[in-house]
Amino acid sequence: MKYIDEYRDGRIARGLAAEIHQLVTHPCVLMEICGGQTHTIMRYGLDELLPKEVELVHGPGCPVCVTPLETIDKAIALAALPEVTLVSYGDMLRVPGSCSDLFRAKASGGDVRVVYSPLEGLKIARSNPGRKVVFLAIGFETTAPANAMAVWQAQREGLPNFFMLASHVLVPPAIRLLLRSPVNRVQAFIAPGHVCTVMGYRQYEELVSEFHVPIVVGGFEPVDLLEAILMLVRQLEHGEAKLENQYVRSVTRLGNIPAQDMVERVFEIADQKWRGIGRIPLSGLRLRAEFAAHDADKIFDMKEVHTEEPAECISALVLQGLKKPTDCSAFGSRCTPENPLGAPMVSAEGACAAYYTYRRHKVLA
Ligand code: SF4
Repeated sequence: MKYIDEYRDGRIARGLAAEIHQLVTHPCVLMEICGGQTHTIMRYGLDELLPKEVELVHGPGCPVCVTPLETIDKAIALAALPEVTLVSYGDMLRVPGSCSDLFRAKASGGDVRVVYSPLEGLKIARSNPGRKVVFLAIGFETTAPANAMAVWQAQREGLPNFFMLASHVLVPPAIRLLLRSPVNRVQAFIAPGHVCTVMGYRQYEELVSEFHVPIVVGGFEPVDLLEAILMLVRQLEHGEAKLENQYVRSVTRLGNIPAQDMVERVFEIADQKWRGIGRIPLSGLRLRAEFAAHDADKIFDMKEVHTEEPAECISALVLQGLKKPTDCSAFGSRCTPENPLGAPMVSAEGACAAYYTYRRHKVLA
């Protein structure tokens, strides 16, 4: 299949790995931001093809993993209201809140439905005018345009029973936080190709010049990632810090301007709490005041909830590249995809789930 087969070609992948072996002379720590990239690395064993000098750590780019406990608890509380239909993507249903999850809320009689897009949520609202339909909208810049479009459309139609519980996060402020941390180990980043398809890569130019850090926008197939790693290692070996784009078949500097305009029209930038990491200034999106009639946070009287992660879960350290999932004492025993303690074990994009799926036979043997 065009644009797939050539990016999964083992001969090309081994050639790129050999180039990295030849080039590298110093130890380096690279972070892939996106959980989809983490899964490709684990699935194809790309880290095992690399020289021992190149260490890959896994970033906070799994949207389910960084959605705050408070948001999950609010969604569970909303699902318990008799007049509410709570709609969301399937993998949000198993994410543990502080005491329960949306699956259990559904099993207890809550009207919780799985959808594949926010526009399906709109359809449910149109055909059920007596229900208050709340869409749990999470994600990075990638999903924000479709969510913005749903709210904009609801406003345009005068659809009074569609609401959004929004928890959107932005990548560049999270990279800035990591780089400012006194314990940061990451020397170069693979930026997330899907996010950059929407937003372009101009937002990363400031980070490169402010922190003198190499950043390469990378795709999601094995050859994409090995090529991005080669580009980063080459920069580090030459003492350079540039922004480069490996994912040229999808990403441009400016990105998808109409999609960005839709996001800008509906959302505004705000401080945002990230699960496991804490509050990051100006790292999220909230609905603008003119869309308050569709803002679940404003319409429903929900108590402000304060929650704690299970003490055993070290996901905060995993998401900052300071620990690997296998460093966690609960990995594969008290925490599995069937009984997750933390969000990175739930999501299809979570780093702990990736290690469990592709490495547990080696690690737990
Ligand atoms: S293995 Fe489970 S408990 Fe440990 S960090 Fe990952 S999600 Fe948290």
